Amino acid sequence: MAIGIVADPVFQQHDTGPYHCECSERLAAVDQALNAWPGRGQALFMPLRPAREEELARVHHPSHLARIAATKGRMAQLDPDTAASPRSFEVALLAAGSLLDLCDAALEQQVQGGFALVRPPGHHATPSRAMGFCLFNNVAAAAAHLLAARGLKRVLVVDWDVHHGNGTEDIFFADDRVLYFSTHQWPLYPGTGPVQAVGRGQGEGYTVNVPLSPGQGDEAVIQAFSRLLLPVAQEYKPQFILVSAGFDAHADDPLGSMRITDQGFAALAQMLVELAADACPGRLVLSLEGGYDLAALARSVVAVLEALEGQRQDALIAQAAQAELSPSVAKARQMAQNYWPLG
Ligand SMILES: [Zn+2]
Repeated sequence: MAIGIVADPVFQQHDTGPYHCECSERLAAVDQALNAWPGRGQALFMPLRPAREEELARVHHPSHLARIAATKGRMAQLDPDTAASPRSFEVALLAAGSLLDLCDAALEQQVQGGFALVRPPGHHATPSRAMGFCLFNNVAAAAAHLLAARGLKRVLVVDWDVHHGNGTEDIFFADDRVLYFSTHQWPLYPGTGPVQAVGRGQGEGYTVNVPLSPGQGDEAVIQAFSRLLLPVAQEYKPQFILVSAGFDAHADDPLGSMRITDQGFAALAQMLVELAADACPGRLVLSLEGGYDLAALARSVVAVLEALEGQRQDALIAQAAQAELSPSVAKARQMAQNYWPLG
C-alpha cells in the first residue's frame, strides 16, 4: 500500500520574510528532495483541503480563530517570533485540513502511514495563542478529529522536535484520550516540558516529557523511545500514532544543540512503524514541525520516508541499546514509573 504525502508549493506561500528561519525555502528544499526520492512513484499525493472552523474550534478558542482570520490579506506580527503574510491564514487552513484528510486516509487503509510536509508548523500554538512560528496546532487538531469525528479513544502523539510542544501539551493536559510524549532539549524555548509535568486530573500520567541536556544525540533519543515510549505505548495501546516531526534536533541545525543524524531520525521512525504494526497497523501519520538547516531537513525527511517504506537502522538501535542509559532518560523513566509499568 502507498505512503500518503501532503506536499504542495502552496505551503511556501506562508511568507515569513527574507530573514526568518521558518522560511519558504525549507519546503522548497524538501520538495526538491522528494523529486529525487525513489519511492515517489509509489506514494499517494493527497489532494489539499482547508480545515473547517469547527475542526479548529475543537482545539482553539473562537477569539484565536478570529485573530488569525483577521490577518487575511495583510502582514501581521502575532508575537515576536510569529508572523503572518497575506496568504498565511489560507495556507494554515490547508495545512491543518490536509493533515486531517491524511489521517482519514490512514484510518480507511487508503495509505500505509503518511507524512504531511506542511507549513506553518503547529505544536507551539495554544488554544488561545499563536507562538513559536505556529498559527494553528495541526497535530492537536488531527488528534481531536480522530477522537471527535472518528470515535477513537486512545491517540498517541509523539513529538521529537527539539522544542517542547507546549501547545499540544496544553490542549490535552487533562485528557487521557491523548498520550503526549515529547523529547526536547532542555533548557530551550519555550521553557516548558520538565519531567514533572505529567498531566492533571483524568490526564495525569498521560503526558510524558523527556527533557534532554544539550549535546545528546541518536543514542539518548533512541533510548528514550526504546526504554520509555515503547513500554508505555505497549500498555496504552494507541489506536493511532501522530508525530510532531521536527528536525531541529539534527546535529546541523542552527537553533538546537542536539546531535541527531539523518539515520537517527530514521531509527525513531522505524521504531514507530514497528509500534504501529503491533498496535494500529498503517495508522502512523507525521506532520512537519521545525528543522532549519535546509540540507539536513531535506535529507532527514527522505530518511524518514525510507523508514516508512521499510528500510532499517538496526545497527544504530542495537548500539543505543548497548550504551549506558542517558541520565536524562533515566530521570524521565523514574517519573513515568509512577504511572506505567516499564519492566
Ligand atoms: Zn522546533
